[in-house]
Amino acid sequence: MELIFATHNKHKLEEVKHILNHKVDLLSLTDVSCFEEIPENEETLEGNAIYKAQYIHNKFQRNCFSDDTGLEVVALNGAPGVYSARYGGEGHNDELNRAKLLNDLKNKEDRSAQFRTVVALFWEGSMHLFEGIIEGEISFEERGTNGFGYDSLFVPKGYNRTFAQMTEEEKNGISHRGRAIEKLSLFIDKQMGSVD
Ligand code: IMP
Repeated sequence: MELIFATHNKHKLEEVKHILNHKVDLLSLTDVSCFEEIPENEETLEGNAIYKAQYIHNKFQRNCFSDDTGLEVVALNGAPGVYSARYGGEGHNDELNRAKLLNDLKNKEDRSAQFRTVVALFWEGSMHLFEGIIEGEISFEERGTNGFGYDSLFVPKGYNRTFAQMTEEEKNGISHRGRAIEKLSLFIDKQMGSVD
């Protein structure tokens, strides 16, 4: 069974492939030659995830899913949240986003935050949503070189290393996306009849 994951991000694709462990043939947007920019203009993670999954379903008429992730920082009233990818402003990229986050937290005592992922799955004609959350703290400086995005600044609760100091397997086992994809994986198991 083929399933399209609405992403070009190789890191994410590998993370998700690892979790789904060959139970479906996972195809990225690159694999299906979909190179157009899918807008992420909604005001919630749920809205963006649903929009992207619907968009790909309309185009290919195939089972597909998308994800949207936000870093929600308590002292910033939940920002950057749905705007996490664009946080660094014009010309934004991971490095600028991280620099802005460190700067915005310079005088804040409370560094608690959570990553939240919403996965929208379009499966046999209906939409299903799955959520994954990991709580933690924003470190005072970047640590580690693995991963991407805000990984080098996020220390999950109960650990003293950032996501960027963990192996992919270790991160997947506890991460927001890992948790949401585990739920998707269980759903697929049930749909395919391999679990009661
Ligand atoms: P998106 O939902 O993949 O577009 O991600 C939104 C923003 O969150 C982007 O800036 C990503 O780099 C960042 N992001 C998403 N997932 C992760 C993660 O697992 N670790 C660190 N940053 C992430």
